[in-house]
Amino acid sequence: MIRLVAEPTLGRLVTWLRLLGLDTGLVPRLPPAAPPQTVLLTRRRALAGRPGVLFIRSDHWPEQLRQVLSELDLRPDPAARFSRCLACNELVRPLARDETVGLVPDFVRETAEGFTRCPACGKIYWPGSHGRRAEDLMAQILADLPGENSDV
Ligand SMILES: [Zn+2]
Repeated sequence: MIRLVAEPTLGRLVTWLRLLGLDTGLVPRLPPAAPPQTVLLTRRRALAGRPGVLFIRSDHWPEQLRQVLSELDLRPDPAARFSRCLACNELVRPLARDETVGLVPDFVRETAEGFTRCPACGKIYWPGSHGRRAEDLMAQILADLPGENSDV
């Protein structure tokens, strides 16, 4: 599986790639060369064309996301969505409902299913915690990709 590494100017793009379950690092400075199985994402035109570097053309994250998915020919596994912490990129782990006492609002604990927690920062997620708008936007972007099924 390919690993993506981006610079801080691409923070919103990074969040969306993590939402899709793609392994996406965020570093203060990109390394001088891409490690194996890694693609460096940059807005710096001077780096365009180097091996393992994808120059991101747009200033806007939806277009950036489309570019990354289509030019790297990535088809994120729907089952991997919401599998990573948006803050740390760690794979989140299932969390039992009774372990959420005091950590999420009571009405969420009583009504939500499928809690997960980041082992690194402790952030807790549940279906809907990313927001309805996030899920709608993601479905729309995936549906627009060439060759992607529209039933996402
Ligand atoms: Zn985390």
